[in-house]
Amino acid sequence: MNRKMLQFTHIEQRMPDKRTAAARRGDFGEVTLALDGERAVEQSSRCEQCGIPFCQIHCPVANNIPDWLMLAAEGRMEEAYALSSATNSLPEICGRICPQDRLCEGNCVLEQSGHGAVTIGAVEKHITEHAFAQGWVKPPRPRRELPQSVGIVGGGPAGLAAADLLRRAGFQVTLYDRHDRIGGLMVYGIPSFKLDKAVVERRVALLAEGGVAMRPGTEIGRDLSFAELRASHDAVLIATGVYKPRELMVPGAGLPGVIPALDYLITSNRICLGDSVPAFADGSLDAKGKQVVVIGGGDTAMDCVRTAIRQGARSVKCLYRRDRANMPGSQREVAHAEEEGVEFVWMAAPEAVFGERKVTGLRALRMHLGIADASGRQVPVPIDGSSFTLPADLVITALGFDAEDVPALFGEPGLVVARSGTVKIDPQSWMTSLEGVFAAGDIVRGASLVVWAIRDGRDAAGAITKYIGARAAAAAE
Ligand SMILES: Cc1cc2nc3c(=O)[nH]c(=O)nc-3n(C[C@H](O)[C@H](O)[C@H](O)COP(=O)(O)OP(=O)(O)OC[C@H]3O[C@@H](n4cnc5c(N)ncnc54)[C@H](O)[C@@H]3O)c2cc1C
Ligand code: SF4
Repeated sequence: MNRKMLQFTHIEQRMPDKRTAAARRGDFGEVTLALDGERAVEQSSRCEQCGIPFCQIHCPVANNIPDWLMLAAEGRMEEAYALSSATNSLPEICGRICPQDRLCEGNCVLEQSGHGAVTIGAVEKHITEHAFAQGWVKPPRPRRELPQSVGIVGGGPAGLAAADLLRRAGFQVTLYDRHDRIGGLMVYGIPSFKLDKAVVERRVALLAEGGVAMRPGTEIGRDLSFAELRASHDAVLIATGVYKPRELMVPGAGLPGVIPALDYLITSNRICLGDSVPAFADGSLDAKGKQVVVIGGGDTAMDCVRTAIRQGARSVKCLYRRDRANMPGSQREVAHAEEEGVEFVWMAAPEAVFGERKVTGLRALRMHLGIADASGRQVPVPIDGSSFTLPADLVITALGFDAEDVPALFGEPGLVVARSGTVKIDPQSWMTSLEGVFAAGDIVRGASLVVWAIRDGRDAAGAITKYIGARAAAAAE
């Protein structure tokens, strides 16, 4: 096949029509790019095997992408799986929900030369799904059991990746989570049209089969004190994520009908999982038939607008204070949202929310991009006299997340945190200010990505293994 045809194949596989039709019928089924065996081989064989693997350099877990693409191109799927899973505890999840356009695929030389990247994420998903179907994916089984135990607080990707590697090393691992299901934001944040929850459940079940003790519904600091937790384990890993929503600070922000993004997404995910949620049943967290305005320009905002479309909203608008090129979210997600019928109102910021007993609209101001601040980003500046209004009966705020007050929640004032509330660690040892207590994922780096949480979980697991090993050696002397 010549390069032109391959480019066409690549674009065709993005399947916008299929995705849009599914969204408009209210279908929450996963619509990530799926390749059959033939297409996976075809995509893999497009890799140029270029001298400098830019894709690998820009993959946070440093996946050996060129080599597993070569193996997949040759049909050596078991070896391709062994290689791809060697650096990633959750490859089937990254293949689906990494923002590949900002990471591996965005740096593929074919993309840079205008021929369309190799669909690396979709190949990774295919390799891992094939491996599951063939029975090649095994629970973590250590060569020898060790007596030491590790308690992990938080069952998101950081906690799961650490649990996988610590269990493989032979430790007795217990994973605690305050939610009733393990998976963190992969279950309750990311919508099912991007990540089928059964995919997360399958991975959690595999870890449990390998001996990781799961304790859902256990909040550290409430159901079990942090001091008790520390006393029960040789090491503790804090992987609790960041959950404090940044608030909308304009008049009327407290009106009924103005809701934080995560409340909305958790509810939608619970409904998809078959739970009953009173706030959905009474309509307050359901977008059906409503004029929805989502405020924010990140991936959480994109998840909200696309969820609202699927719930049957009358109209869905996304208000963002910068322009498209300066959005923090993935451009691919924006394109998907547009295809599905979302209207973007760029360069506009909320000024006030209005309504009598509940929200009926939003007043916003047009912005222009002024001079850059210390971070290098141009600062949005309001344009005088540019006010306009938008009708709205549901306003969803997706302005980002900060860390909760972990020392207060854990009753442990000795746990040192940064000004932003994230937990401070020593970058070499991954240890916090408390002996034997480590931290990883969003609670350390701030709101980030699943693949970075996996990387952190992996590195923290390595540091914990070293720490326990050194203590055991010292005790034996
Ligand atoms: C709406 C949304 C969409 C996103 N979409 C994407 C995406 O498409 N791709 C991507 O790569 N990233 C995405 N992200 C970011 C990604 O989900 C996070 O970066 C990642 O989940 C962080 O992993 P973590 O393990 O650090 O924390 P989390 O996934 O947040 O998991 C932390 C866990 O700790 C538990 N916990 C907290 N406190 C306690 C306590 N005291 N006791 C017990 N348990 C506790 C929580 O219940 C939670 O299960 C998205 C985020 C959001 C909010
Ligand atoms: S883990 Fe993410 S960034 Fe790395 S190869 Fe897979 S999809 Fe790309």
